[in-house]
Amino acid sequence: ALEFRNVTKTFGALGQKVVTAIEGVDFKVNKGEFVSVVGPSGCGKSTILSMTAGLYQPSSGEVLVSGEKVTKPNPHVGFMLQKDLLLPWRTIIKNVEFGLESRGVGKAERRDRAMAELERCHLAGFENQYPYQLSGGMRQRAALARTLAIDPDIILLDEPFSALDAQTKLLIQNSFAETIQEAGITTLLITHDLSEAVIMSDRVLVLSERPGTVIREMPIDLPDRAHPLKRRQMSEIHQH
Ligand code: ATP
Ligand code: MG
Repeated sequence: ALEFRNVTKTFGALGQKVVTAIEGVDFKVNKGEFVSVVGPSGCGKSTILSMTAGLYQPSSGEVLVSGEKVTKPNPHVGFMLQKDLLLPWRTIIKNVEFGLESRGVGKAERRDRAMAELERCHLAGFENQYPYQLSGGMRQRAALARTLAIDPDIILLDEPFSALDAQTKLLIQNSFAETIQEAGITTLLITHDLSEAVIMSDRVLVLSERPGTVIREMPIDLPDRAHPLKRRQMSEIHQH
């Protein structure tokens, strides 16, 4: 569903110092697969995400989404960044509806779809609250609901949990991995945190220092995503 074919990206206008962010990056993420990319700061992780979203073009090589070369921003790619970017003056449901508004979905359908996503993300009952009334973990789940509401083919996550405390982070990592896995959406997660990658993914790509190249691919095969938190009650998990 997502493929990088020998992709190199350099930045720098004429007369400026040229930076090669990534070099010869080659990988494939199959439909429904959850893959993480880890690597040192500045090795080109965010560049890979931006190129998948169609925000930058490769200097050489090809980026393919659903078999098609990416040449412009793709409305079927959902993005979630470090900060959850909920709009503070809008209720939770209005935040989830946001992407549907800009895609021209009518009011009644918008509301139904937003409500369904809030249920899927275990936030039913919180739809009329404002972001400040929710915990950090709940806000992240609301941001996930907003991303899922646009019915994306691919979800891109760039360090989505770095602002959370350690305890909430563990719970949210599990909750996200489960929700996304159940939805069967192809996902690329960028993170500094190898344990996060291992907990959440089917496979981990390790990049070298800049210019980033894939130096290792690790399959993660935990039986039933065997993590101690999985065995806890979901109700306990979703209080965070
Ligand atoms: P971090 O872990 O710190 O977020 P990263 O792995 O996401 O780092 P990138 O943000 O992809 O790294 O940046 C890779 C390199 O490309 C860096 O040297 C960065 O300065 C450079 N770079 C990224 N975007 C641009 C841009 N738009 N213009 C010029 N240089 C850029
Ligand atoms: Mg980055």
